[in-house]
Amino acid sequence: MTVLPTLHKRRHALADGRAQRTRLDQVPLERSFPAALAGAGLWPLRPTGIETLQVNLGKRCNQTCRHCHVDAGPDRTEVMPTAVLDACLEVLAAHDIPTLDITGGAPELHPEFRRLVTAARALGRHVIDRCNLTITRLPNYRYLPAFLADQGVEIIASLPCYQEGNTDAQRGDGVFEDSIAALRELNALGYGRPGSGLVLNLVTNPLGPVLPPAQEKAEPEWRAQLAKNYGVVFNRLLNLTNMPISRFLESLDDEGRTAAYLAKLERAFNPAAAAQVMCRSLLSVGWDGRLYDCDFNQQLELPVASRVPRTIFEFEAAALAGREIAVAPHCFGCTAGAGSSCGGALHG
Ligand code: SF4
Ligand code: SF4
Repeated sequence: MTVLPTLHKRRHALADGRAQRTRLDQVPLERSFPAALAGAGLWPLRPTGIETLQVNLGKRCNQTCRHCHVDAGPDRTEVMPTAVLDACLEVLAAHDIPTLDITGGAPELHPEFRRLVTAARALGRHVIDRCNLTITRLPNYRYLPAFLADQGVEIIASLPCYQEGNTDAQRGDGVFEDSIAALRELNALGYGRPGSGLVLNLVTNPLGPVLPPAQEKAEPEWRAQLAKNYGVVFNRLLNLTNMPISRFLESLDDEGRTAAYLAKLERAFNPAAAAQVMCRSLLSVGWDGRLYDCDFNQQLELPVASRVPRTIFEFEAAALAGREIAVAPHCFGCTAGAGSSCGGALHG
């Protein structure tokens, strides 16, 4: 039976995005993020285009993970209204944006999740579902694996570790067992199997304030462990750095490690990763229709620059594609080491 973890009760000191930004701005660093970008010839940071519309359907989730950068959980009430969802579909229909990336919370909890997916697929768009896996084990959502396979949706699934203890420590008791059951069901439908066209990527992140291991080392290890122990296969492993925001920032603050962690990220600045941060090719839509450069900025309430359209209802492709991306110290989380912008490792 699926256990809904209640690991973390939201606290209020850093629940507000502006308070988090203020907290991060207080940390003394060798150089600011704009200075690091300037050193790499990337300041001001601008998009290379809008390849992906990332839509955050809301903050409701069946889990309450320790490191959640969205501060999601079953008690959250933010859900994208129909008018906003329709505006996203109108933008997709009217513009050559190849990919719709659906995120949350657990986006599948949105009552119109199926309508959004089928409408975007009917428009010929590639659709990504950022799935926590356990949602597919809940009675009302057992339809999901077959539905996603039928629609040809790419799944990016979060799994902190291939070991049960580590995953449950971060996500809650029983999460690993349910995640493996979900992965097996997806594999049975063809996900992660060569030639099926059904892409199943796994996303992992370190348990603490350290940089993730090199992707070329981690991926074969994960592949071998999941195949040997559980018969599970997948396409790619994406190694993400923990962003110093939301619940992870709270835990850093609790342990007195915020400054050290931010300094570690700053020292690991990689110009090649900076050139390919996801905000350069993605536009993020909040549950209420506001526009952001990425999901992290969304959580920090850092909107797109004031000189460009700021809601999906005012979408204007040329102005947004030419915008100056809003950056702040947390951005060092995307440019540290091999890079961590939901796209996999980069070296340089
Ligand atoms: S990390 Fe993902 S699965 Fe966990 S609470 Fe946040 S949105 Fe839900
Ligand atoms: S946090 Fe967002 S704005 Fe900053 S570099 Fe990463 S993707 Fe870009």
